[in-house]
Amino acid sequence: LDYSSYLKDWIRAVPDWPHEGVMFRDITPLLQNPKTFRMLIDIFVHRYMGEKIDVIAGLDARGFIIGSVLAYELNVGFVPIRKKGKLPYTTVEEEYELEYGNATVEMHTDAVKQGDRVILIDDLVATGGTMMAGYKLLKRLGADVVEASAIIELPELKGGELIRGSGLSLFTVCSFE
Ligand code: 5GP
Repeated sequence: LDYSSYLKDWIRAVPDWPHEGVMFRDITPLLQNPKTFRMLIDIFVHRYMGEKIDVIAGLDARGFIIGSVLAYELNVGFVPIRKKGKLPYTTVEEEYELEYGNATVEMHTDAVKQGDRVILIDDLVATGGTMMAGYKLLKRLGADVVEASAIIELPELKGGELIRGSGLSLFTVCSFE
């Protein structure tokens, strides 16, 4: 069984959301079905279980869902990279560009230690801006980012090229042209 193409059928395409012209890839059916949820998590677990990993860093908000389960399965800690204004302690922040305007992500300054080997995870890579902002924060805190990981890649938006071009390895389960 080809897990990747099987799981792809559980990702729902929602046209014109959040605005006209956008085809939103909705992962809720994939998470809702216990079998596909387990298959999805297992792909990430199998990829990293032999590696020396210290921390899983998940991006707000769907990166939390898969990232926390992955961290639990790998017996390592989980740290959140959040949208600005959500974290209570001292933070480092990174601004990045969106289609319209800017966004800022933050991490607690003590979320990772110098030299920690980190997997950075989110649900989807579009332009790659969100993943790159998380990568920059982790690097500023001295982490060694082993790989960026996501369920979905949209090659048309060239986020994969941006991330891989920066020297960071990127793993994705499937892609939609
Ligand atoms: P990027 O920064 O790569 O342009 O956009 C990726 C971020 O936006 C991710 O955090 C992701 O959750 C969200 N995102 C953008 N488009 C979609 C989509 O079609 N489906 C899902 N599930 N998330 C999306």
